[in-house]
Amino acid sequence: MLAILHPNTALDSDAYRQTMDYLEHLPGVSIKVHEIQGASQRLTEIYLLGDTKSLDKDDIEALPAVERAIRISDDYRVLGRHKDDKRQSGFHYNGVEFSQNNLNIFAGLCAVDVPEHVEMMLQALEEHGEVCTRMGAYKPRTNPYSFQGHGKGCLPWVFEKAGKHGIKVIAMEITHESHIEEIDTCLEKLGRPTGVMLQVGTRNTQNFELLKAIGRQRNYPVLLKRGFGITLNESLNAAEYLASEGNANVIFCLRGMKTEAGLPHRNMVDFAHVPAVKRLTRMPVCVDPSHSVGSREQAPDGILDVMHATAQGVIAGANMVLVDFHPKPEKALVDGPQALLMNELPAYLEDIRLCHDIWKKRQAIYQRLRETTAE
Ligand code: PEP
Ligand code: MN
Repeated sequence: MLAILHPNTALDSDAYRQTMDYLEHLPGVSIKVHEIQGASQRLTEIYLLGDTKSLDKDDIEALPAVERAIRISDDYRVLGRHKDDKRQSGFHYNGVEFSQNNLNIFAGLCAVDVPEHVEMMLQALEEHGEVCTRMGAYKPRTNPYSFQGHGKGCLPWVFEKAGKHGIKVIAMEITHESHIEEIDTCLEKLGRPTGVMLQVGTRNTQNFELLKAIGRQRNYPVLLKRGFGITLNESLNAAEYLASEGNANVIFCLRGMKTEAGLPHRNMVDFAHVPAVKRLTRMPVCVDPSHSVGSREQAPDGILDVMHATAQGVIAGANMVLVDFHPKPEKALVDGPQALLMNELPAYLEDIRLCHDIWKKRQAIYQRLRETTAE
């Protein structure tokens, strides 16, 4: 059972004290308090765990600080959608909205290499009014002798350049909890010119200690990649680990599944799961067409497979696109062959916007259908 308190309930108010006193003394029930700081109000959610079957929803709703109570299922308690659950999806971070209804594009370098390339990328994004990007500083590599990313050494100049070009959010994978502090210390030192979304890579989806460490901090939202060889349920539970530790500002990213059945693509594109994840949880859903498709192969219609896959995800309602670009792919240190080129950026952005608009129109078609069948 979940008890949602009236917005901005003061923790020292009589209503709060009476409510907590009642809940804390329910036999066989433990409670977990979850605070959500929204743009305009603070929400307190109290999760009642354990022997809650016999609890009466009306009794809980009668408590002075409680606005409403929801019976929640065991799966994805914080991030999931439950019956009669009208809680909002998404969050704001550094002036950018992330929800299940809008779309943000994170085009950028798979791995940070030299300042010149980062500058060219960010300059192009600024010219097209984009305020988000991806920049890998810590790279998890299959081969221990491959380039592992510049690590914390590149953070100062990457963050400074991002600030200079008006970038508000950089998706940046971390592979160890110590990277959170490295990023935080660097941003703080520079006066926070930009923001960071911590990315958990597909190889770390079930690194539970890393998930817990990221979940314990509330400064940075998280982009969790789906595990490439596990079930969707297992990956959604990984997201719930973050939320259960306190950080529910999580975006779930589909990036293809590792199976020979996906050939000739690097991974089996799984973007048909966009609506499934939106139905099962309240997380905004991201698609990563670059790591799904993994090449610059082109269909006879003149459109790259990466672009087709992007369109499939966005037309199905994806809320974020994470995509590799590079000004000189032949010089890229990681994943050059799948990178899109700078001169492809305007057309690609136009294509994505078109698909997002079509998704909205598709919703309207089925809305009308529901209205006419209800009449
Ligand atoms: C990446 O986005 O750079 C990356 C390594 O992705 P994944 O974890 O999905 O392989
Ligand atoms: Mn990559």
